[in-house]
Formats: sequence, C-alpha cells, structure tokens
Amino acid sequence: MDVYLSQFFFYFYGVNDFLQTPIEFLKGVGPQRAELLRQEIGVYTFNDLLNYFPFRYIDRSKYHSVSDLPFLDSHAQLKGKIIHIAEATLGRQKKLTAKFQDATGVIDLVWFQGAKWIKPLLKVGVEFQIFGKAKVYGNLWNMPHPEMTEWKDVLLKTGLQPVYSTTEKLSAKGLHSKGIEKLTANLVLQIKGRIIETLPLYLLNEHRLIGKEQALYHVHLPNVDNDFIQARLRLKFEELFFLQMELLLRKHITMKKSKGFVFAEVGDVFTDFYTNNLPFELTGAQKRVLKEIRKDFLTGHHMNRLLQGDVGSGKTLVALLTMLIGIGNGFQTALMAPTEILATQHFETLSEMLKELPIRIELLTGSVKKKNRIGIHEGLEDGSVHILVGTHALLEDVVKFQNLGIVVIDEQHRFGVAQRARMWKKNTTPPHVLIMTATPIPRTLAMTFYGDLDVSVIDVLPPGRKTISTMHRYEANRLRVFGFIKEEIAKGRQIYIVYPLINESKTLDFNNLISGYEAISRYFPLPDYRVSILHGQMKPEDKNFEMQRFVKGETQIMVATTVIEVGVNVPNASVMIIESSERFGLSQLHQLRGRVGRGAEQSFCILMTGDKLSKDTLKRIETMVNSSDGFEIAEVDLQLRGPGDLMGTQQSGLLNLKIADLAKDSQLVVLARDEARKILLEDPGLEFSKHLKLKEILIEVLRSRPNWGKIA
Ligand code: ADP
Ligand code: MG
Repeated sequence: MDVYLSQFFFYFYGVNDFLQTPIEFLKGVGPQRAELLRQEIGVYTFNDLLNYFPFRYIDRSKYHSVSDLPFLDSHAQLKGKIIHIAEATLGRQKKLTAKFQDATGVIDLVWFQGAKWIKPLLKVGVEFQIFGKAKVYGNLWNMPHPEMTEWKDVLLKTGLQPVYSTTEKLSAKGLHSKGIEKLTANLVLQIKGRIIETLPLYLLNEHRLIGKEQALYHVHLPNVDNDFIQARLRLKFEELFFLQMELLLRKHITMKKSKGFVFAEVGDVFTDFYTNNLPFELTGAQKRVLKEIRKDFLTGHHMNRLLQGDVGSGKTLVALLTMLIGIGNGFQTALMAPTEILATQHFETLSEMLKELPIRIELLTGSVKKKNRIGIHEGLEDGSVHILVGTHALLEDVVKFQNLGIVVIDEQHRFGVAQRARMWKKNTTPPHVLIMTATPIPRTLAMTFYGDLDVSVIDVLPPGRKTISTMHRYEANRLRVFGFIKEEIAKGRQIYIVYPLINESKTLDFNNLISGYEAISRYFPLPDYRVSILHGQMKPEDKNFEMQRFVKGETQIMVATTVIEVGVNVPNASVMIIESSERFGLSQLHQLRGRVGRGAEQSFCILMTGDKLSKDTLKRIETMVNSSDGFEIAEVDLQLRGPGDLMGTQQSGLLNLKIADLAKDSQLVVLARDEARKILLEDPGLEFSKHLKLKEILIEVLRSRPNWGKIA
C-alpha cells in the first residue's frame, strides 16, 4: 500500500522531489511511525532520514563463542540456537529467560522489560544471531537485553553495522537502532542518480572528498572502514562549510547595512596621553590590536569586535586608548563591567592614568547616591562627561548621552545579547562596540560562535611576568600548606583562599565558607594575622569595605567565594589557594589563578582536592599544573566538556550539527572556514558559473533558518 502511495506521489510531484517525499511513504513507515519520526527525531521527509546519520558502527565481522564471554569486556556477537524459553514473575515485573547454545556452551539471555513483544520473536531450535554484553551475577553469566535477529533475516552477515540514536517511543514501535537501520538501508538503495552534489567539484577534487551520493550511501551502508570514514569526512566538511558560508555571508550583510561613525584621526587626547602619560611601552600584541581597531574606525561601518586576552594581558590599557580616540573625535565613551567591584576598580585605574588630562570620567553603579547621579546624568546629556564607567546601571533608559561613540564591555560572557543591543540604541547611529573577554575561546569555536564578530587577540603578556607556580595538594597536606602561607605572609605577601559556589544549596556553600573562615581564623589568630571575608550575600558597601582593606594591605588573607573571580587587581597578593578544586571548571580555575602573579614577586597557586578524583578531574588539575596558556587550557576544556557546556545554552542552536563535532573536528572547521572565505573573497556575489549551484543551495539554507544570525 505505501509503495503504491509513493508511486502516486512521484507522479504528482515529479521525480526530482523524491527527496522531499513525506516519510510516511517510505516502505515500512506508514502514518503511525511517520508521526513518531516527526515528533521524536524531526524526520519529515526522505531527505531528513538520509541526513539522520549513525553515531557509531559495530564491527559485525567477528563472531564470538559462549565460552569467550567471561573474558570479554565489550559487546559481542554470537550465532547459535535457543533451546529453552521460560517466564517468571518478579513482584509486578515479568522476567523472560531464553537459553542460548552454541558449539561451546550455553548462556541465559534475559529480559526484564518488553517481555511481551520479545517472547513471540523467540523460537526454540531456530538459529539466531545475537548481540549484547554479558554480565556476571554471582557465578552465573547471562546477557541482558540482547539484540536478536533470526539468522535467515540477517542482512549483514559480516561487516560494519551503523548504530542510530533512537528514543523510547520509537523503540516501542520497532524503531530501535536496528529498525531505523532497516528503513534507511531501504531508502539508500533508491537514491542512485537522485542526489544533487552540493559542493563545487573543484573543492571535491582539491581535498579529495567523495561525492555526496557516494557519501550518503556509505555512511548508512558501510562496507569497509575506509568507506565510512571517507563518507563521514565529506559530510562533516559539507556541514561545516555551509555553516561558515552562512556566518560569513551574514557578517557581510550586517557590515554593509550598519553605518558607523568614522574616526578619521587618533586625535589630540590620544596623542597627548600616548606621548606624555603612557605608563609603559605597549606590548606588540597591544599595538597590533589597536591597529585593528583603528582600521575599523575608518571603514564607516559599525565596529563589533571581540578582544580576547588572557588575565593580566593588558586589555584595560587597550580599552582606554580606544576610548581616547573616540573622545578626540568629539564623542563620549562608556566602559561597562559586570560587577560593582570591577567597575570601581576600572574607574580608579583610569582616573589615575588620566589625571594629567582634561578628561571628565564618572562612575555610575547601583550604589551611587541619587544626588550625584543627577549630576552625572546632566553631564552625560550636555556632553561634558567623556568617559562613563559603570555596571549594567548604564543600560537604564534614564542614562542618556549627548553623543555616545564607543562602548567597551568587559568580560562579555556575563552580559546577554539583549543587554548589548540596548547599548546600541544609545545613539542614532550605533556606537562602536569592543567586547573584552578573559576567557579565551578556542580558535575553532570562536570562528563559529563569533563568526559574525571580528576577533582580536592579545596573546603576549606584558614583560617581566613570572609564571605562576601551580601545585596540587590533597587534604592530608593541609598543615604543610598553612605553614607555607605563614612563610609567605612573613615575607609581606597576601593570600587568597577561594571556596566554590555550588548553586544547588546556597546555605551549604555559605556554611562551607564560614567554617573555612573560622578554621583559618583559628590557625592565623589575631593580632599577628588579620583575615578578610567576601561573599555574594554581603551588601555591596560591605564587600567594597572588605575589598579595600585587603587592597590596602590591612588584612593578609582574603577568604572568599568566586565573587573575586573577575578582574580584581591586588599586585601584592602572591598566593591563591583554591579549596575543593575538583568542583571548579578549567576556565574558572584559570581565571582564579589569574588573580595572583600581578606583581613582581614569584606567585603560587595551590589546588586543594579530596582524595578521590575522577579521570576528568585529574586531567583538569594536571592541565592547570602544567600550563599557564589560557588558549591551551581552553582547548583542553573544550575536549573535556564539549562545545555545548563551554558556550552556555543560549547559543545551542549552533550546536545542532548533525555529523561534525566542533571539539573533535577542529581541523575541518579551519579548513571549511578558509575555503568559505576564499570563495567569498574571489566571488562575493557567487556569480561565477562554478558557484551558481552553491548560491542556489545557500539561498535555500538561509531561507530555512530565519532568526539565526543574532548570535553575538
Ligand atoms: P586584563 O587583560 O586582565 O584586564 P589588565 O589590563 O588589568 O589586564 O593589566 C594587567 C596589569 O598589567 C596591570 O597592572 C597593567 O597596568 C599592566 N600592564 C598592562 N599593559 C602593560 C604593558 N604594556 N607593559 C607592562 N605592564 C602592563
Ligand atoms: Mg581586566
């Protein structure tokens, strides 16, 4: 019946629409399963199913025997007969057992679920191929929930078998991996001559990629290793290539549309500061980034630039110089930070550096008194405030500028897209935006997630920095660690001790912190020692007060939660102790460590952990001990956690990749990016005959993803 319908469908819509045929017309599907395929895995058409790729392959060429099973640690495939079937009731559950025999012995196959629909499939005395993992209960080996195929129905007697992900509901209708495999195999056998090549032929030749039709065939029906590896490579490249084409096109379109202020000169204030007040020679990396920004200011388009630089790499100075260019061109500027402490610190640093210059700089945060606030608002509206530093208080509608030209955002990952967009609206033409982040993002991820932003990198630290010596210590070494702290304090140094914040239980976190604080206060008693404490539940003014005591050197130890993570600068602090380090992610550990090593002294970071550590945790700790390079650390983080966790969920739309993996296929990401860029450089309108088909396909892709470009 369904074959019949599909014939009708082709007749009606034409052969070329084969791929668009609704999935219910595929042999073996029908309306009920079609509904499930649509709901559960988004498969609507033949084309969708073709693009539903297996996530691994099982080697079906090997057969094991029952006597091997105790020595195997993996799934195994066997051939033999069922010699007996029994059913038992365990409480409310049914248990089904089948004795399976081959030339070497007998093993029990058991089912605790689905006995009802497994039982009719089992036939005594008939040959079966089974696949599963044997387990031992007491002395007895059995195999729970094996896959069963009657030998006469085994399609693939040897070779590789694709494995598809599936859901409970699909499995219940027979669409477990095997069921999906059957449908797909059937479909793939019909695609000959019906698949349009999506990549330009010269690209295929240049990179020795196989054709699309061949790739689809082998990804679903692998014969030998090479087939499916080549097939996957080609399909991954295609996916990444179209992703990059899309990102670059969107960037191009946004650029063309968005008018921006032209800052033709660097201006007097910049020159004055640069020649007379620059506190130190810029590093090569700082100079390079400034040049990149200068270039943006000349294009007439809106700048949207991400500045990545490790903690302590000197982003603040770049931000200041950037703002001075804006001021010299007659514009106002704003610097936005995620916390009050950070904003205050920026304000103080900048005020100090600018004290010789006729520049008005103001600080606006939640705790600025109403009276002062009014003065600031007026200064912003009459144009007399040149630099406004603040928290998200800057975003409020009452904050109006006469002529805002540049917004610098520090630590971008704390601000949402919507918040940034609000800054754009503070002038009739959107101000230029420089986003600074100290969380390095691996290059391949940046290419994708910030594909429509320009990225600058400060990859060199200012001269004279000593590498922070990082150590791992177990709880059992605590007294030695405390001894070490005493020695450092005796040398006049200051110490951070940081406790993790675990969101599930604020009180528990708080208790940990407090009991830690009490223990430390006992071990480091007054009057010789003074200990500060800082946590998220304190009022801003109390936090500030404690922070200032530490900054001024009135206290030697700062016990804190991660509120100190971002930006705080106390050059005399030389030891960072991170408690329960196993609870922190890599990038957070790296951020925390960056709080020390800011002065001339040798600094230390001690990672405290419990005794029992997972493999991943050990890898994290080891990476910290061995590396101080933020980009390298970010790379490991990506491998350990995957791109989803790294970038947060808000951009997860980008992670709906069907076959490529941003963490594992980083070389392909780079290749795809390069190729896409080359094409658009050579032929921006995609008008060459070799690109016409590509253009058609891209238009189709862009149309199918309406609200996609708004990722940064
Ligand atoms: P981050 O990139 O983490 O924001 P900062 O801008 O706070 O780093 O800079 C860290 C420290 O390095 C500051 O004390 C700053 O004064 C100093 N610094 C910045 N640029 C240079 C430079 N070119 N040479 C020497 N020290 C510098
Ligand atoms: Mg900073």
